[in-house]
Amino acid sequence: MVNLMKAEGGKHGSLAAFAADYDSRVLQAAQREGSLQCSEHGCTKSTAVSCEYADRRGRQCGTAWCPEHRALVEDHVYCRRHAGVVSSLPGADSSLVVPRPDIDNRAPSLVGWVARLIDGDVWRLLLSELDAQTGGQLIADPVMLVFTGLERQRAWERSWKVMTHTGITRRVSILVEEADDAEVEIKVGLNIVDRVTPPWITHRRHGDHVDEEQDTREREEFNRRVLKAIEDAVMAERHSGAEEAGTA
Ligand SMILES: [Zn+2]
Ligand SMILES: [Zn+2]
Repeated sequence: MVNLMKAEGGKHGSLAAFAADYDSRVLQAAQREGSLQCSEHGCTKSTAVSCEYADRRGRQCGTAWCPEHRALVEDHVYCRRHAGVVSSLPGADSSLVVPRPDIDNRAPSLVGWVARLIDGDVWRLLLSELDAQTGGQLIADPVMLVFTGLERQRAWERSWKVMTHTGITRRVSILVEEADDAEVEIKVGLNIVDRVTPPWITHRRHGDHVDEEQDTREREEFNRRVLKAIEDAVMAERHSGAEEAGTA
């Protein structure tokens, strides 16, 4: 039996009433007008409200966004980067507690962003691993703080796991260290199988202007490279597992 489990809780109560109330709160947050200057480059609106993000030390983001340029997570207003951070951390109804990342670090939002890009394909790949076995569960962990390498560097990781009665049989993750928050490490099992800097980050660092077509093409190439690295390593693991079983 295949059992899909995401590490997020469900909502209870009257669903229709909850949904209507929720929709109206989101709409209000989307339209709420403040009196601050919008932080978007070139925007002249002074109807902005502050990004609500505060990190583990209580420091505020300090940017403000008009209705057109703000990002929402549920009914909260954030800048785009912090929306990425908040939406990729464990939800409020999760039992996992993660300290809010520092306001100026891009590592958790980059992990969250890349994880969303490849999520569907990683699920599909791991599901096909599951079919070959006698059942088990796919488990996706939210973005978590981890300590990596000999020097125990702070890093943010998002992982996907196949768990059977014998334990975790496959583990795929992506990881970004705080000290190098432009590079994505791709891990299968305990091995780092690729390291790649997303093209849009390279362009931003160089101040390059990239048209939409090139941007789309480069993002697709980036996705393909990440997935290929994962797929090859999972296949290699399966192959070596089969050999071990054959010689046992
Ligand atoms: Zn604006
Ligand atoms: Zn912010």
